Amino acid sequence: MTKKNYQLKYYNINNFETIPQLQALSDDQKHTMRVISHVLPFRTNNYVINELIDWNNIPEDPMFQLAFMQHEFLSKKQFNQVASAIHQTNYPDKLKRVIHKVRAQLNPHPAEQLVHNVPLLAGTPVPGLQHKYRETALIFPTAGQTCFTYCTFCFRWPQFIGEKQLKFATDQSQLFFQYLKHHKEITDVLITGGDPMIMSARHLDKLISPLLSNDYKHIQNIRIGSKVLSFWPYRFITDQDADQYLYIFEKVNKSGKHLAFMAHFNHWRELETEATQEAVQRILTTGTSIRCQSPLLRKINDDPNIWQQMWQTQVKLGMIPYYMFVERDTGPKSYYEIPLVKAYEIFRQAYQKTSGLARTVRGPSMSAAPGKITVEGIEEIAGEKVIQLKFLQSRNPEWCNKIFYAKYNDKACWLSDLVPAFGKQVFFFEAELLKSTVNSVNNKDNIDVTPVSLSY
Ligand SMILES: *Cc1c(COP(=O)(O)O)cnc(C)c1O
Ligand code: SF4
Repeated sequence: MTKKNYQLKYYNINNFETIPQLQALSDDQKHTMRVISHVLPFRTNNYVINELIDWNNIPEDPMFQLAFMQHEFLSKKQFNQVASAIHQTNYPDKLKRVIHKVRAQLNPHPAEQLVHNVPLLAGTPVPGLQHKYRETALIFPTAGQTCFTYCTFCFRWPQFIGEKQLKFATDQSQLFFQYLKHHKEITDVLITGGDPMIMSARHLDKLISPLLSNDYKHIQNIRIGSKVLSFWPYRFITDQDADQYLYIFEKVNKSGKHLAFMAHFNHWRELETEATQEAVQRILTTGTSIRCQSPLLRKINDDPNIWQQMWQTQVKLGMIPYYMFVERDTGPKSYYEIPLVKAYEIFRQAYQKTSGLARTVRGPSMSAAPGKITVEGIEEIAGEKVIQLKFLQSRNPEWCNKIFYAKYNDKACWLSDLVPAFGKQVFFFEAELLKSTVNSVNNKDNIDVTPVSLSY
């Protein structure tokens, strides 16, 4: 049975020590959390603590790894710098400087998002919008820039910390509506965050309803990217706005557009609770489709059996497996990273064991500067061992679905670790990509984006 009147309660660095189960943590582990949460954001909630984490199996439990910080997130040097600055309470400025420096070392903007992807409208940057692939624009609504729990591996972490120049969200001008109206090539709007489902139904409606009007006929699909089904399924069951959310979803589908709920699940364990299964069923009754995506993460899901079971359960519950991502080059990446060759093997082994209904999934996919690129195979061609790669999405639409090859390298974890096969100097797209970087850098408007975060 799902619980009645389950009230969301957050834990953060100020009250995490009141979590009863945390008594199982050693003093050293608690110290680790205190130190690292000065640099990276920490937040979790009572559902994750009580229903997801197996407290008899910490720290190995994948749901624990998903929510709680581990010592290896920072290098020894970084950890010690922060720990000693915390102790010097007389020098708060020093602590700020140290934190700032360590954060900068953690690559807060992977794939150069700020340089490339903020669109201009009549020469003015459009705050909170990203438009990288022709058909799809991303909206980062200000009211949706937090989450029900912060995943320790999240590449969006700069959104959750207080440094303004790392933030990225819509502002009061709502310029993004003008942009969407004028760009008829956009068929899909993806509302993302943070977690947009943190917004009240009223805020979500303010964002979605205008898109149903005649000005936006070209927009066919509205997508919501969210981890709420894993972290707080009661959003759709007993929360005050539960029925309103479902009403909005239904309204989109009845208007002739399609609502696609892009759900983030990392492990089949997240699909096992009755609350999650009930929330999934409630969403499906509105005509919404649910597509599932997750990064591949060491210590959380680096095993083909986990993926096989996750995809099969998703299909059984009426959801559609969509993407397996390679963890991005940001934050505590070295803790989670898996070589591309191994990622490919995990994907292949899981994929082979499912029926065609689960083979809608694609991956392992890197969201890199030129586009989304999958590892498609390991082969030997003309006596050379190579990695076969393919564009699933590309900055230049002409590159999409194109196959290309890199020299075999079993240590490489990202596109930047690979070099072209067959003695080539550069990958086929590099010259053009470099040109577009130069253009953006010369365009002062485009890089000096400091979106102001105002609640609307
Ligand atoms: C992944 C992604 C999209 C959506 O791509 P689909 O393949 O259509 O799901 C859009 N914009 C950006 C920047 C992305 O990274
Ligand atoms: S739910 Fe998504 S945006 Fe939020 S912390 Fe997790 S990965 Fe990041």
